[in-house]
Amino acid sequence: MYLGTLLQCGMTKFGKYKIDLKGMQQSVVRLEYELDNQFFMDIDAPEVGRGRGNVSLEVKKQSAGNAFELNFDIEGTVVVQCDRCLDDMEQAIAISDKLMVKLGTEYSEEGDWVIIPEEEGEINVAWFIYEFIVLAIPLKHVHAPGKCNKAMAGKLNEHLRVSADDEDIAGVEMEEDEDLESTSQISDPRWNELKKILDNN
Ligand SMILES: [Zn+2]
Repeated sequence: MYLGTLLQCGMTKFGKYKIDLKGMQQSVVRLEYELDNQFFMDIDAPEVGRGRGNVSLEVKKQSAGNAFELNFDIEGTVVVQCDRCLDDMEQAIAISDKLMVKLGTEYSEEGDWVIIPEEEGEINVAWFIYEFIVLAIPLKHVHAPGKCNKAMAGKLNEHLRVSADDEDIAGVEMEEDEDLESTSQISDPRWNELKKILDNN
């Protein structure tokens, strides 16, 4: 999915996130970006719609000249939905992540490497920044104690308790089924008969 988005990111909205790797003269380049609500609105993806942050990016050219290491340091705050009360909440994020990029024939990914066409020689990092941010959001994110929307949290809690009970019952049933199956296999009289025949021969 994201290679398509990557190509779209070539649009002017994300012009400043385009890095000319092929034309890079120095062995190290440092870039800074400021993220705001507009950035997330332009990205237009479901996970994060608003936020702010700072990105420090260091681009290192490897000695061969066709491979690059991009080190991202991202700090900021994004607005996500609280798991407990479903109201918006601010989630702080601090990320250090790396992207390895190689010039090749066409856009692709090989293990940890992102390959970009040598003809273009450019990469747009807007979507990668967004992806790093999304991956940095904890799986479970809730308001600080006492900060939840109390009415909503109460209702959801009730609902969750019921769902959890349902799951437990289903879990127990499944285990019982498994036990029955294995027991019946062992005690199946036909198996015993077969075993007797095999043993005797
Ligand atoms: Zn909450």
